[in-house]
Amino acid sequence: MKGAPTSTCPSCRKRGEWFEGGYGPFCSKRCQWIDLGKWFSEEMIISDDLRPDLFKGYGELPQGTYLDDPGQDPLEGL
Ligand SMILES: [Zn+2]
Repeated sequence: MKGAPTSTCPSCRKRGEWFEGGYGPFCSKRCQWIDLGKWFSEEMIISDDLRPDLFKGYGELPQGTYLDDPGQDPLEGL
């Protein structure tokens, strides 16, 4: 048994000397990306929840005020 500190990989829960591998607490680059992906997908869910409200606000604006595509109702594409 070596004296190097062991840690638990936050993605796959394997224990080992992951800090030696250069991926922080993760056992591999793959697990590091899995954890990053989790954060990104949570952010995506949050912005999806906000999006209908944003469109509602745009819908109350008079025609021709859409910056992206003037004259087009963004709700039509949903
Ligand atoms: Zn892992």
